[in-house]
Amino acid sequence: MADAVRDVIIIGSGPAGLTAAIYTARANLKPLVIEGEISSSGDQPGGQLMLTTDVENYPGFVDGVLGPDLMATFRAQAARFGAEYRTEKATRVDLSSRPFRVWVGDDEHRARSVIVSTGARSLMLGVEHEIELIGSGVSTCATCDGFFFRGRDIAVVGGGDSAMEEAIFLTKFADKVTVVHRRKHLRASKIMQDRAFTNPKIEFVWDSVVSELVGDTKLEGVRVRNVQSGEESTLAVTGLFVAIGHAPNTDLFRDQLDMDDAGYLLTHAGTRTSVEGVFGAGDVQDHVYRQAVTAAGSGCMAAIDAERWLESQAHAGDTAGTPSEW
Ligand code: NAP
Repeated sequence: MADAVRDVIIIGSGPAGLTAAIYTARANLKPLVIEGEISSSGDQPGGQLMLTTDVENYPGFVDGVLGPDLMATFRAQAARFGAEYRTEKATRVDLSSRPFRVWVGDDEHRARSVIVSTGARSLMLGVEHEIELIGSGVSTCATCDGFFFRGRDIAVVGGGDSAMEEAIFLTKFADKVTVVHRRKHLRASKIMQDRAFTNPKIEFVWDSVVSELVGDTKLEGVRVRNVQSGEESTLAVTGLFVAIGHAPNTDLFRDQLDMDDAGYLLTHAGTRTSVEGVFGAGDVQDHVYRQAVTAAGSGCMAAIDAERWLESQAHAGDTAGTPSEW
């Protein structure tokens, strides 16, 4: 059974979705936020900031703020203005006609406009047993799992800011953190590189990839192959943190919204997608900046775009007959 047609449904609850919720709620559009749920693959309401530690570059916090605390604040702020939440995942959408339809299991929700802010997820290495060993030594989240590696030797894969951030954070727990990177140069920002290079607990293995995970039910080591020499060696680590980047969460919208080759939503004229009345905000449409503050900014833009679009449709209805259920 479908409920009444809403003005706006927001799919996703990271900085983009929750900022869109704050703005649309304050505009009295009574948004429904389908915020997702905790899953074994690391998804959870609040998005990637739930998997991060100190956020030092979100304006307004001189001493930094914890990612989960920041998202809890965003969520409460939107709730204060009347945003409603469903703590489940959207399972299907139909954007081919209006009102748009969004399903959570068998429940159908309808809305005049939709804001897509489903974010992006961690990429995995693709080596054998990697997924089975998540939670048994393999992780994509130092904040969640770092505590379990107190006094251990662990490895981090990747050469970007995420990998450096994870490696530095993990030195609070681990005796030694080995960063395995497939090239000789890091992609991470200078400040993060400097912090990692000067941390006495961090070592680097350059020009190398993880070729195999050792251990059946829990991780006991990692086989590493030097891509220049072909030489293989084993790192005796009980933890492997994969920090090699992200992919957009757009499977739900395939064949309904235009995307680039990597699956990021294409937006134009602000946050408009290829379907009129559907807007995209945050990492789901941004593979360049991918910051909490830029995601929040685009969530604000999507809310304003949606509000103005709804307004323009209502006026169109005034003159051309009220579109009863668009
Ligand atoms: P990223 O910048 O895309 O870096 C991914 C890293 O993983 C690269 O070093 C890449 O190697 C490596 N990699 C990719 N695929 C691999 C594979 N299959 N096997 C082995 N290595 C692989 O991703 P990110 O570090 O997640 O950062 C994403 C964005 O978020 C960036 O803009 C970053 O600045 C931002 N960020 C900022 C902060 C912060 O400011 N505190 C924290 C985290 C992230 P190559 O270098 O060879 O391509």
